[in-house]
Amino acid sequence: MGAVEAEIEMIGQSLDRFVMIDIGIGVAGPDDNAGPAIFSTRRQHRCREAVALLVSQSQEQGHLALDMRLLADVLLDKDVAERPETFAGALALTPVMFLDGVPHLLRFGHRLGLGHNTEPGQIVWRIADVFHAGSGSGCPWRAYCAWTDFRHQLRMESGRKATESGEVEEQDKNNDGDIFDYVIVGSGAAGSVLCRRLTEQPGVTVCVLECGPPDRHPYIHIPAGFIKMLFNPKFTWQFQTEPGEGINGRRIPTTQGRTLGGSSSINGMIYNRGQRADFDSWAQRGNRGWGYVDVLPYFKRTERRIGVADDRIHGREGNLPVTDMDWFHPVCDAFMDGAQELGIPRCEDYNSGDRQAGVGYFQRLINRGYRHSAARVFLHPARASGQLDVRTDARASRILFDGTRAKGVRYVDDLGRTTIRTVFARKEVIVSSGTANSAKLLQISGVGPEALLSELGVPVVADLPVGENFRDHYAVRIVARVKNIRTINEMSKGFGLAGQIARWALGRPSILALSPSLVHWFWKSEDTMQQPDLQGVFSPASYKQGFVGLLDDYPGMTAGVWQHRPESIGYVRARSTDPFEDPAIQPNYLKDPIDRRTLLNGMKLARKLLHTQALAEYFDGDELPGPDVHTDDEWMGYARQYGSTAYHLIGTARMGPVSDRTSVVSDELLVHGVQGLRVVDASVMPSMPSANTYSSTMMIAEKASDMILGRQPLAPVEGIAA
Ligand SMILES: Cc1cc2nc3c(=O)[nH]c(=O)nc-3n(C[C@H](O)[C@H](O)[C@H](O)COP(=O)(O)OP(=O)(O)OC[C@H]3O[C@@H](n4cnc5c(N)ncnc54)[C@H](O)[C@@H]3O)c2cc1C
Repeated sequence: MGAVEAEIEMIGQSLDRFVMIDIGIGVAGPDDNAGPAIFSTRRQHRCREAVALLVSQSQEQGHLALDMRLLADVLLDKDVAERPETFAGALALTPVMFLDGVPHLLRFGHRLGLGHNTEPGQIVWRIADVFHAGSGSGCPWRAYCAWTDFRHQLRMESGRKATESGEVEEQDKNNDGDIFDYVIVGSGAAGSVLCRRLTEQPGVTVCVLECGPPDRHPYIHIPAGFIKMLFNPKFTWQFQTEPGEGINGRRIPTTQGRTLGGSSSINGMIYNRGQRADFDSWAQRGNRGWGYVDVLPYFKRTERRIGVADDRIHGREGNLPVTDMDWFHPVCDAFMDGAQELGIPRCEDYNSGDRQAGVGYFQRLINRGYRHSAARVFLHPARASGQLDVRTDARASRILFDGTRAKGVRYVDDLGRTTIRTVFARKEVIVSSGTANSAKLLQISGVGPEALLSELGVPVVADLPVGENFRDHYAVRIVARVKNIRTINEMSKGFGLAGQIARWALGRPSILALSPSLVHWFWKSEDTMQQPDLQGVFSPASYKQGFVGLLDDYPGMTAGVWQHRPESIGYVRARSTDPFEDPAIQPNYLKDPIDRRTLLNGMKLARKLLHTQALAEYFDGDELPGPDVHTDDEWMGYARQYGSTAYHLIGTARMGPVSDRTSVVSDELLVHGVQGLRVVDASVMPSMPSANTYSSTMMIAEKASDMILGRQPLAPVEGIAA
């Protein structure tokens, strides 16, 4: 044990409650041992007031950012902030913490020579002195300090503390500490829908915090830009899963959207709702109002279907244009003819709820050549109301609670990582940060499994299984070479591409305005099944190594497949309280034998679909996994090595009644055991729908908006039986 840890240990044992501030000049930073030691002492001795202030002389940006966030944490710490006497100390930038009138400020480190082995209970210094001493010795703290925005702290110190009471009203409405009716964290699929629906109600004010930048990049809006955006860290979260036992210990890149519109700004633009049974099973788990007949009106409310459709099932008046394919390729038609040879019928509307089985073209969220993300359709138009405040590059770092009531959100500017601000919610904080990030934010704010929170050193607000029940679709792509025709692989290069750009610019059908998959095939892994348990996709294009990214140099076609409802359950867990550190994401792909068996049959079917008579004219040989793969073991070896995510993360804040110990939110999406806090995004899905997850996420947000505004749910659609 090092000297610092020994000292902390000794003091920790002699007190049961105290405030510790560690100022490690020059040497402190992420690698310094004082911070971890303090937090472990805090856990051992239940010292809720223990905080670490690591001030570094290092000019290196990462250290600086960490230091400044921790400094603000000290000054804004909820437990500390709610003690008037504490804030009296903080007022003069003198964070001398008092407990029951007795000051406890402990110091470790030697560099300033201000006394090392300080007795507990003795005031050691005023922070102003530290800054003074620091600057005198050439330490650039003054500059650092100026970068940190203390206005909010000062306002709080002057007595206008934010609580759930009427005092909140007195907050300065034009600056930090602004107060809104609702604060939404995340402007993705769900967040964007909420922004629009809530601000349609006159007088309602909403602030949405978005970690990423605005969605101005042209590749967001031109559908083919998908392939570029997927690897752009400015607009995406470049998550990697934990090594998976079922997939040869591999980590899988798991990109998510990080801009206005969230993943809907970078996704595959497929409109797919799933089977009736998906939602009926949600209701059967005890979630009132979430059966198919209940949710269908909300799917419809979102949708503006363009094209032939059953108007009982599809919406015509909504905001989201859902279009049919306008670009056709003979290989797609041959593929569909071939499917019929195998007994898979044409299915014109897989979104009918009752009849998904079959093959056909996908419905898409592309209209007049452009992606229609949730931001484009819902968020941007909502700005015109004047009731919506959109803050980009704003990374929520903590939900603030008053006891068990959520009262606001603290956030850090995502670029400089130095400015910390707070927004308060008069009515509710709504977490819509996506399945991985919602789980992390809840956990680092004290809502999560007690054991994990204790490891993180986070005081428990609610002990709930946040982050568990995580699921994703694991996709495997079967690739064949193509002959006798050009595929997208060639059309997207050289002169071919120039021609496609020209077509797109003239508003003609073009590969620039395509979703990555054009054709669907929903089918059963076993003949005895009533409904499909597989989703397949097809495209006259292929990617190197079967992983969506670089197109192959030869003409190719791909039949991808995944299992609708994976049994394997994983988790998302914060690694630390650092809002800038990615959480651990473990989907446990292929862990469950049912998943392996289903996928095995799916892959074999995908190959058969490439080997049909109808497709023979274009089929030029198996490429992936190649002609030598025949046995089940060989197939599974391929799946383990080449499969990847379908990007459909769900379930980390599962909806269910309190009696369901796996659930986090109620059927009104309110977090169990706390007040003023809802989760509205893909994380609340109790189980995986038999579909891509975007349309269900928007449906959830549509329905949530009525709950939030206290409206009656929409009436079931006439003519659709329960
Ligand atoms: C590459 C890809 C392809 C896909 N293809 C399809 C498809 O074709 N069809 C389909 O139906 N589904 C598809 N999906 C899935 C679909 O896009 C998602 O299910 C859906 O967007 C989830 O919505 P959400 O609101 O839960 O999260 P998101 O849309 O991911 O939004 C979450 C938002 O919260 C922000 N955020 C996160 N943490 C913080 C924080 N701490 N502070 C502030 N903001 C924060 C994020 O930056 C993001 O903007 C795809 C997804 C991906 C990633």
